[in-house]
Amino acid sequence: MQVVIVGGGLSGLTTAYKLHQNGIHVTVLEARRRLGGRIQTVLPESRPTTPLDFGPAWVWDDQIHINKLMKRFHIKRFPQYKQGMSVYDNGARRAPHQFVPPPNMPAYRVDGGVQTIVDRLAAKIPDNQIYLKSEVTRITGDQDGLTVQSTRNGKTEFFDADSVVVALPPSLADTLITYDPTLPVDVRRAMQTTHTWMGQAMKIFLVYDSPFWRKSGLSGHGISHYDVVNELHDVSSDNLPFGVLFGFLGNNSVGRNMSPEEREEAIKEQVKRMYGWQARDYVYYGEINWSREHYTSGSYRAIKLSSGHPQYGDPLLQNPLMNGRLYLGGSEVSTVSGGYLDGAVYRGTEVADAILEKAKVDS
Ligand SMILES: Cc1cc2nc3c(=O)[nH]c(=O)nc-3n(C[C@H](O)[C@H](O)[C@H](O)COP(=O)(O)OP(=O)(O)OC[C@H]3O[C@@H](n4cnc5c(N)ncnc54)[C@H](O)[C@@H]3O)c2cc1C
Repeated sequence: MQVVIVGGGLSGLTTAYKLHQNGIHVTVLEARRRLGGRIQTVLPESRPTTPLDFGPAWVWDDQIHINKLMKRFHIKRFPQYKQGMSVYDNGARRAPHQFVPPPNMPAYRVDGGVQTIVDRLAAKIPDNQIYLKSEVTRITGDQDGLTVQSTRNGKTEFFDADSVVVALPPSLADTLITYDPTLPVDVRRAMQTTHTWMGQAMKIFLVYDSPFWRKSGLSGHGISHYDVVNELHDVSSDNLPFGVLFGFLGNNSVGRNMSPEEREEAIKEQVKRMYGWQARDYVYYGEINWSREHYTSGSYRAIKLSSGHPQYGDPLLQNPLMNGRLYLGGSEVSTVSGGYLDGAVYRGTEVADAILEKAKVDS
């Protein structure tokens, strides 16, 4: 049995790993030049031992599927640093004030960065079955199976498959790939209207020689409704001397419309106000705008903003399509923890189980 998996994010790799472990031949086609999708851990040139999670940063205790997977690969986690006071920024004209944040469910960081999970999964799949820079554009079906068309280094390639898993955010799976025969109208509508979780997120990173704010009794957590960065956290590694702050720019942040240079300058002023003069002395500044990432969000205009966490796992996306051979994977399709890492693992496993069951029946 041949299974083609479109998308080498956490969900696609979970499916590929489980099928490969069970003796099914898998081919993973990934459009980017790296695996992981929304998971991206960057090692800055100036401090290459410090992993920065440009994508997801946290797992929680109630996320049993991702925690189980991490345990299987002996990947450690450590608690998010929370000791000390939070800072509320009152804008440029008034001094910030400190506050005790309300208690919430403890969050954990992944030792070495979230990319470690991706790397461990990928290491279990033979290299020659993973194709990077391979953008899938078309999936064609007949009674014998499916053919997946992709473009790699300017060349068109075709892969025959008994089953195909499209492990992409659903709206992207609808806009970037043509299906022949076409998918049912109600399924397409459900795909188009499924919001890509964190697809509009914009994150900035500041790396320091030490987490100096801790000495002043600050946790590094900060909130601002007035300036460029709206939410900040201490994401220093627990076993390294360096200090790392990351910040989210909200959807309406003024910083989104600034040039990168203007933005960095404004952020420098903001963090100085919130954490003290040392905050200007960072050794690395980095940023990512996920809404500009073609293989996450398609096009900037295609982003559908939503408030809060949407209800994922649309029933219309659960069952296989194209004669029972095409499965929709990806976290947003998951009926459990949709949008999160946990959902990616849950749906990835669920799809693998369905294909293994089908293989048993067919044999
Ligand atoms: C900034 C940010 C912060 C987040 N924070 C958290 C957090 O703290 N905790 C948490 O649990 N979750 C968080 N998330 C969500 C989490 O990252 C996702 O749930 C998870 O990574 C989704 O995995 P996936 O495999 O379903 O999708 P993706 O990671 O989007 O994978 C899809 C893959 O398909 C590839 N692809 C796209 N188009 C094609 C094509 N045409 N052909 C071939 N390949 C293609 C993409 O390049 C990508 O690799 C965050 C996400 C972001 C962006």
